[in-house]
Amino acid sequence: MENKEFETKAIRAQLERSENNEHSVPLYLTSSFVFDTAEDMRAAFNDEQDAFIYSRYTNPNTNEFVNKVCLLEGAEAGVSMASGMAAIFTTFMALLKAGDHVVSCSSVFGATHAVFTKYFPKWGISHSYFNTNNVEAIESLIKPETKFIYLETPTNPAIELIDLEIVAAIAKKHKILLIVDNCFATPYLQQPIKFGADIVVHSATKYMDGQGRVLGGVAVGRKDLIKEIYLFGRLTGPSMSPFNAWVLSKSLETLALRMDRHCENALFIAQSLENHPKLENVSYPFLPSHPNYAIAKKQMKAGGGIITITLKGGYENAKAFMDKLEMIKISPNLGDARSIATHPASSTHCKLSEEERNQVGITAGLIRISIGLENRDDILKDILEALND
Ligand SMILES: *Cc1c(COP(=O)(O)O)cnc(C)c1O
Repeated sequence: MENKEFETKAIRAQLERSENNEHSVPLYLTSSFVFDTAEDMRAAFNDEQDAFIYSRYTNPNTNEFVNKVCLLEGAEAGVSMASGMAAIFTTFMALLKAGDHVVSCSSVFGATHAVFTKYFPKWGISHSYFNTNNVEAIESLIKPETKFIYLETPTNPAIELIDLEIVAAIAKKHKILLIVDNCFATPYLQQPIKFGADIVVHSATKYMDGQGRVLGGVAVGRKDLIKEIYLFGRLTGPSMSPFNAWVLSKSLETLALRMDRHCENALFIAQSLENHPKLENVSYPFLPSHPNYAIAKKQMKAGGGIITITLKGGYENAKAFMDKLEMIKISPNLGDARSIATHPASSTHCKLSEEERNQVGITAGLIRISIGLENRDDILKDILEALND
C-alpha cells in the first residue's frame, strides 16, 4: 500500500475480509476477545501491541483507522484516542515528567492552552510560548529540561503559519522532539513528518470525520514514542470507541475529495470578500495578501477550509453579523460539510485575558468561518447578506 497514491491508500488500506467476504468493513462491537488456550492468552498479554485482547487496548476497527492515518501521514506507528484532546493530553502525559519544560506556539487550541497554564504547573511541568511570527525566538526559550516543541499550523483561529522546516531544524539541533497538531491542514494538505516532525496529533472530530458526527483523536509518528503513548493510553483508558473508529475509517475514504472542495470554496469566499468595505481584514493562507503566503505555498497543497474575517466596529458588529446569518450556523465546531461561524473571543478563547487574546490575534471583531461543502454561491450570498445593513 505504501507505493499507492493518497486517495488510493485512504480507500484501500482496509481490514482483510472475514470469512463472510464482506466488501465494506464491518463494525466489531466487542469489548473483549477470546483465546483458545490459557497459553494463547498468556502469550497475548506478553506481546504489548499486536494481539487483540480487550478494546481499551486495541480493536480491529481502531487498528484500521490508525493504520490509514499512519499511511496518509507517512508515519511508522500510531494510536487512536476518544477525542483530539485525549490524543494531545495522553501524548503529553506519556512523554513528560515533573521538572520538564515545553516550548509551544502561543496560538494553540483553547483547551491545549488550558492544559499548559492550569494543569501543567500542578504537576511541576513548565512551558514557554513563542510568538507565531517569530520562530527565531524558539532557540532562546529552550532549556536543558525542554522535552519538546509543540505547534499548530495553520493556527486556530488566527490562521497564521509556522515554517515546519525551520522549527524541525531547531528541534533537531537541540535534540528535542517536535510535535505538530495537524488538525486544520489534514494529511491531505500537509504532512509534518516529511518536514521533520516526530509526532503528529489530530482531532479526528474535524475534517477526518468531516460531517460533524463523532469525536476522535489520533497520534502518529516515531515507533518508540508511539509505543509509550499507547501503553499509557491503554492503562488509563482514553481509548477510541470501535464505532467511532468505524465511522472515521469510512470518512477517510472521502477526505481528499472533501478537502479539495473545502479549499476551492474557501479560496473563492476569501477572494470575494477581500475588499469588502465592512471588513477590516480577510485572512486565508492561499491569498497572496496573507503575511505567511510563502510558507503556506511551501508546505501546504492548498489553503484549507477555514477563513477569518474581521469586522470593522468590533464585537457589536461581529455579533450583529453572526445573528443575521441564515444558512451558516453559529457553533464551536469546524471541518464540517456545513459552513459554521464562530466568534472566538467570546467563546472558544474566552478563558484568555484580553491581552493574551490580542497577542495571538484574536480581536473582538474576528470571526472564524469554517467553509463547508454547500454551493459556494449560496455560502457567499449568506455572508454578503449578513454584512449588509
Ligand atoms: C478541536 C481541536 C482540538 C481538540 O479536539 P477534540 O476532538 O474536540 O478533543 C485540538 N486541536 C485543534 C486545532 C482543534 O481544532
